[in-house]
Amino acid sequence: MNLPADVQNIISILESNGHEAYAVGGCVRDCILGKVPHDWDITTSALPQQVKALFARTFDTGIEHGTVTVLLNGVGYEVTTYRVDGKYEDGRHPKEVTFTASLEEDLKRRDFTINAMAYNDSQGLVDLFGGKEDLDNGIIKAVGDPMERFTEDALRMLRALRFSAQLDFTIEENTVEAIRKLAPTLDRISAERIQVEIIKLITSDHPDRLLDVYETGLTKVFFPEFDQMITCEQNTKHHAYTVGMHTLKAMEAIAPEKVLRLTMMLHDIAKPVCKVTDENGHDHFKGHPTKGAEMAKEIMRRLKFDNDTINKVCNLVKNHDDRPEVNPRNVRRMIIRVGQENFMDLMAVKRADTSAQSSFERDEKYAYIDSLEAMYQQIMADNDCLRIKDLKINGKDLISMGVPQGQKIGEILNALLNEVVDSPELNERDYLVNRVKDMLQ
Ligand code: ATP
Ligand code: MG
Repeated sequence: MNLPADVQNIISILESNGHEAYAVGGCVRDCILGKVPHDWDITTSALPQQVKALFARTFDTGIEHGTVTVLLNGVGYEVTTYRVDGKYEDGRHPKEVTFTASLEEDLKRRDFTINAMAYNDSQGLVDLFGGKEDLDNGIIKAVGDPMERFTEDALRMLRALRFSAQLDFTIEENTVEAIRKLAPTLDRISAERIQVEIIKLITSDHPDRLLDVYETGLTKVFFPEFDQMITCEQNTKHHAYTVGMHTLKAMEAIAPEKVLRLTMMLHDIAKPVCKVTDENGHDHFKGHPTKGAEMAKEIMRRLKFDNDTINKVCNLVKNHDDRPEVNPRNVRRMIIRVGQENFMDLMAVKRADTSAQSSFERDEKYAYIDSLEAMYQQIMADNDCLRIKDLKINGKDLISMGVPQGQKIGEILNALLNEVVDSPELNERDYLVNRVKDMLQ
């Protein structure tokens, strides 16, 4: 295994001062898989104060849990003292920890065999629980007794599914059985910790593994709305699956980006509550985008998402089914409604949604989206006026024409914008000045 020079350097300094030190956890796993680790964690027998004494630049990241960040060449490396964990309560760290001199004890506290390997050049790979073999066979398996391990920290159940989605691995039988039994205990875990795992799962190559999260009983705890979708049939020619299965396919069909995957996960969230079956047995879901945006907001608030993410996702959910007739006026108004910066995301959402529907009129649906996008590109290329600041007149001009400062200015500018959006050729200074004079009569 090839350790980066800085990591090697940190390990050597610790070793030459009489301590043990290893790269550990995710980075070892990723290296064996031939992936480039996104960060390097180091585990050591040295106590935090001893680590701090050996390096020029350190931060007390989580010193009460034994973690010191060592800064080398502008990169931070988390160096954590061998420890045995107490109960996990808050965010990423257990409530109380005990330091230990034994690497084995430290590896034993880790969640899965594939995450419980350590490596350094002097000792080679330290793999006490068959992590390498499980990695080769594509298996997620708890270290020790899964019932005990998930009782210590219920988040590990969701982590198992997250790793299975990221790595396309299967969860070992006893481990999955323990998840099924203990799923309801996920309710003890904070929304913040759940959010981290769910984002990693749905932005992975296998977002459809959300189905396993449902089947093991975990969505019921933090996302029961998903359970409603999975069982919601949709008897319409546009669909071939339940709302939930359609949702999973739509998630797979869009780029692995947080906002886009969340949008697909939530775009039809209100279908179960909006469903009406007519006398012919056909289902209708009138108003589901608007209601869906409300529900999405509530769900994301509950899971403690930030406002920026909530606003972007809700905007896309709300507009996902808008299908105005394609003409310049309608599309300009659509761009204003959705926001110029979100428009291409909305096109991606519409395409993913279409791809997950039945084949009924699919080509026509794609052709419609293409024409919508072409019109958008044309409007952008023409630099059509879409915002007050694009008007060839501004607030200062109005004041110099005698409009009193305050609300009135905004009202007039909005009225002008409204005209210009429908007829861009009217965005000429002389015309606008005359219009203002008319309005002031
Ligand atoms: P990622 O690539 O997502 O960072 P990772 O394996 O590094 O994956 P982290 O959450 O960064 O995951 O945790 C680092 C290591 O700490 C894990 O590999 C595992 O050994 C251990 N670990 C993390 N969370 C837990 C937990 N809840 N219970 C037990 N061990 C854990
Ligand atoms: Mg990590």
